[in-house]
Amino acid sequence: MSTEAGAPIYLDHAATAPVDPRVAQRMAEVLAMPLGNAASTHAPGQQASALVEAARAQVAALIGAAPEHIVFTSGATEANNLAITGTARLALARRSKLRSPAPQVITLATEHKSVLEPVRALESQGVTVSILKPSGDGLLDPAALEAAIRPETLLVSLLQVNNETGVAQDVAALAAVCARHGVALHVDACQGAGKLPLSLEGVAMVSFTAHKLGGPQGIAALYVSPAHRGRIAAQMLGGGHERGLRAGTLAVHQIAGFGLAAQLAKEAMAAESARLTALRERLWQGLNDLPGVLLNGHPTARAPHILNLTFAGVEGESLFSALPELVLSTGSACNSRSAEPSFVLRALGRDTELAQSSLRFSLGRDTTESQINRAIAAVRRAHAALWSLSPERPAATPLSGCSLRIGEAGAQRIGTWIRFTLQVEGRLVREAQVQVYGCPHTIAACNHVRQLLPGRSLDALAPGSPEQWRQFVNAPVEKLGRMLIIEDALAAAAGA
Ligand code: PLP
Repeated sequence: MSTEAGAPIYLDHAATAPVDPRVAQRMAEVLAMPLGNAASTHAPGQQASALVEAARAQVAALIGAAPEHIVFTSGATEANNLAITGTARLALARRSKLRSPAPQVITLATEHKSVLEPVRALESQGVTVSILKPSGDGLLDPAALEAAIRPETLLVSLLQVNNETGVAQDVAALAAVCARHGVALHVDACQGAGKLPLSLEGVAMVSFTAHKLGGPQGIAALYVSPAHRGRIAAQMLGGGHERGLRAGTLAVHQIAGFGLAAQLAKEAMAAESARLTALRERLWQGLNDLPGVLLNGHPTARAPHILNLTFAGVEGESLFSALPELVLSTGSACNSRSAEPSFVLRALGRDTELAQSSLRFSLGRDTTESQINRAIAAVRRAHAALWSLSPERPAATPLSGCSLRIGEAGAQRIGTWIRFTLQVEGRLVREAQVQVYGCPHTIAACNHVRQLLPGRSLDALAPGSPEQWRQFVNAPVEKLGRMLIIEDALAAAAGA
């Protein structure tokens, strides 16, 4: 990613981190080699296999595992599906033979969708699914997990670090609970691997992916403990690769890139985590005095690289669009494609409006102090501009010879609220102010209308029609409803 002054600042490393140039170079070298299929017994095949095994050792070392317990997959989405569905399907097959009760799978409401979706899908296949709620700080209390475990509990699947909030669970304490009850624990460590240490004690499976570590997209790993090996079935069937757990020709250059990225992440982990923690803290200290700002998730139980903030009183889409110099997400990459408020923030107790007024900043190896300083300045600037329009702004006082006319419409709850404050002399508007909580189009249209109000009579206050305002600000047709709220606010001011 570019680090030049003036270039957009990439703060979306939790979605994907740029490939480390050393990794890219290594992958290019491997691609240029005359390699065979790593499953072939001839010399070019064996050369490919040697590269895979060297990378497997590097990947395993990142989480302190033995290389033979690592299964390569196409991504952590696949690793999570393999862990969850692979474990449940085998248990279901055994259960039908033994006529035992339905197995139970437990997870948390704030998990990544690549965990929640396969878990939910199991419900229709005869698995009892329990989705626990975290506490308001995003943590799962080990006692709450223990209370949910039953004799038929098969699997617990939890994130080490939440991809939206950065909250880090106490995996050791949760693993101890699972171990006490003989329940398999799967940990999605995509955001934690290379950033926070993870003990494999009491852990049956761990997923992690290369592209959050400076490696390529499209390659990940599932660690399967020796104790769990006989309790998981392959989901991708074929030539029996990866010790029967995941069929398919191994992508040697991807795996070699993942291996080097894992090694580099392990070597840099202590220093890099301290550096990222300091930068994240600087970002928070630079923003925490803004009115209405709230930190999402536990203040200290968190990964070094993620800061998720809610900006109460400021509409989310407007804040996001006022920050073109920052590349970041309003939630996880999967969620920000939809206009839905983040289900993770909702589960932490933020209402729809607050969840929508939230930004996730995620830092990485290329993030510098000067970028963080520029990000702070950009957010403060954007926030100040929106706050000056916000419902929180103090009411105007009448100018000499004028009376005030105030007209309000909409509601923050529905994403659009508008208030016109008019200084009126007789029935003529001398000055007009507007406060608005809404999308950039609504703000632009309100400002346009406001400029046209001085000199107009209360008897014909609206300068044009909602459709004309929509066209003036180039808003899509779907936004006509918001323009009607402008008309309502003007009507309220005229009639007040
Ligand atoms: N789990 C978490 C916590 C993630 O952040 C991601 C990233 O997108 C995934 C799983 C999915 O990983 P992949 O993109 O390798 O499928």
